[in-house]
Amino acid sequence: MNSNSPKLVDGMGRTIVNLRISVTDRCNFRCTYCMPADNVEFMDRSNLLSFEEIHRVVTIVSKLGINRIRLTGGEPLMRKGLPILIKMIDKVEGIDDIAMTTNAYFLKDQAQSLIEAGLKRLNVSLDALDPDKFRDVNRRDCLNSVLEGLNTARKVGFKSIKINAVAVRNFSEPEIMGLIEMGRSDGFEIRFIEFMPLDSDKTWERNKVLFGHEIIDIIKKKYELVPIDNSLEIGPASEYNFADGKGKVGIITAVSNPFCDHCNRIRMTADGKLRTCLFSENEHDLKNLIRNGASDEVIAEAIQQAVLIKEPGHKINLKDFKQPNRAMHAIGG
Ligand code: SAM
Ligand code: SF4
Repeated sequence: MNSNSPKLVDGMGRTIVNLRISVTDRCNFRCTYCMPADNVEFMDRSNLLSFEEIHRVVTIVSKLGINRIRLTGGEPLMRKGLPILIKMIDKVEGIDDIAMTTNAYFLKDQAQSLIEAGLKRLNVSLDALDPDKFRDVNRRDCLNSVLEGLNTARKVGFKSIKINAVAVRNFSEPEIMGLIEMGRSDGFEIRFIEFMPLDSDKTWERNKVLFGHEIIDIIKKKYELVPIDNSLEIGPASEYNFADGKGKVGIITAVSNPFCDHCNRIRMTADGKLRTCLFSENEHDLKNLIRNGASDEVIAEAIQQAVLIKEPGHKINLKDFKQPNRAMHAIGG
């Protein structure tokens, strides 16, 4: 293998270039599709990887061909000093892109220091523009703080801001066009994500998913959409341009048309477990290796071996599907 060959290739021939790192399982929201309303058991803080430990993993995977990092959680902005970690990652040779997924509540205060630290891109979760619906789904009454966070992010210079909305049947339908109009006028790409069985409350049912093709049908009543070729080869979303040239929209059909064949990502939980799929039943414990003195070579080998047996795809649509023990906030979405 020459030094330019990809070194993280799984058993299906997929090359892994993207690591999503959860920095905390804690969150100030309690979204119905993710966390329980109360009595959440969080990880003991001593189990969270330190910034130095995360930096070490990033350095190791960068030599294996990973060039894109996304910070997530829980709510990543609840982890104190996050800009310090971003600065550390930004200096790692081979890392071209650092992005973050956030609920935006703390962005108003933190956007400036995040962009100065080297954060390039933001995905903001926003499911509803109606304040009552926002409160119902996020179990917090703070739509305005999220909108302020979004505005501040734009003002401080974030160029690429995407908005993620989880698509839930009998909830999302009336919100779709409002989000689309906001995206078109303010320059955000709106991405609808089909509701996946990753909720702590375990209330997911197939008939609660608003499917991608239904979302497209709603948008097409007003706007002509032009599919963007090969968008699935770059990321999880099928993307469409508005035919009038004003922006684009993405649909993540994780349930109705999974993108597993093109999956190029792995995840690390806040307590240092490598997950090769959102729906993995098995995890690979990097924290133990790190804290027991393993060398970089041993950790790299463990990551390569884990990737080799990456799941071919999730099984949501199969009879033997099992919902993972960890809910979304503890995996890192
Ligand atoms: N707290 C941050 C946020 O909400 O953006 C980051 C973590 S959150 C787990 C990451 C993404 O996962 C969010 O866009 C959220 O909407 C999405 N998500 C959470 N639970 C989901 C589910 N059951 N199905 C689909 N998407 C989900
Ligand atoms: Fe928190 Fe994000 Fe989960 Fe909502 S989706 S509860 S904001 S981690």
